[in-house]
Amino acid sequence: MINTIAIDGPAGAGKSTIARRVAKKLNAIYVDTGAMYRAMALFLIRNGVARDDQEMIGVKCEEAEISIQFKDGEQQVLLNGENVNGLIRTEEVGNMASMSSTNPKVRQKLVELQRKLAESTSVVMDGRDIGTYVLPNASHKIYLTASVEVRARRRYEELLAKGEQCDLQQIAADIKERDERDMNREFAPLKQAEDAVLVDSSEMSLEEVEDKILSIAEQ
Ligand code: C5P
Repeated sequence: MINTIAIDGPAGAGKSTIARRVAKKLNAIYVDTGAMYRAMALFLIRNGVARDDQEMIGVKCEEAEISIQFKDGEQQVLLNGENVNGLIRTEEVGNMASMSSTNPKVRQKLVELQRKLAESTSVVMDGRDIGTYVLPNASHKIYLTASVEVRARRRYEELLAKGEQCDLQQIAADIKERDERDMNREFAPLKQAEDAVLVDSSEMSLEEVEDKILSIAEQ
């Protein structure tokens, strides 16, 4: 039986870490939809498209071929055939992705790919609109969130560990701005699906969140 688990929530809530772990336990494939929006953003940056030029974003995105392959269970995002996994985790790409993902043309293109992936295998898919729009009939839906302070601190520590220069206040401000944009865009905004279970991880350890989601998935 094909099992689909949708995990949505704001930036920095820990969705990818948790989704990866849950997928492993459930023998499902972990699909990171944010990585697809990031690959598209990288393409737009490389082509000199300005963040606020929605018209150009809509035109240029047609030239980007985004696909996915799995190697040792890990998702690799290919941009016109190039594996860009190592290039999409920067703040610059994240900020562009936050803007370009509001574009309906960008979304239509990537949603099609996401739906195809979930057709034939069990998936744990994380993003912003998976339970509400991409997979409205998902077997289980989770809305994973945490306070802005906790999310900013986590991202700050993640970037520090990677040796990137960063400022906690700036990260918190960026997160708030991204939340605003994700929640208020016209097309498939971030919101909790009516049938999603809310999990607030602010005061929870990784293991606790994982256990909670596994118990939801087993219901
Ligand atoms: O989750 P991540 O931060 O990698 O996603 C990058 C950006 O892509 C987010 O800021 C969000 O605006 C966008 N996104 C989206 N819908 C998804 C996944 C990500 O709009 N399903």
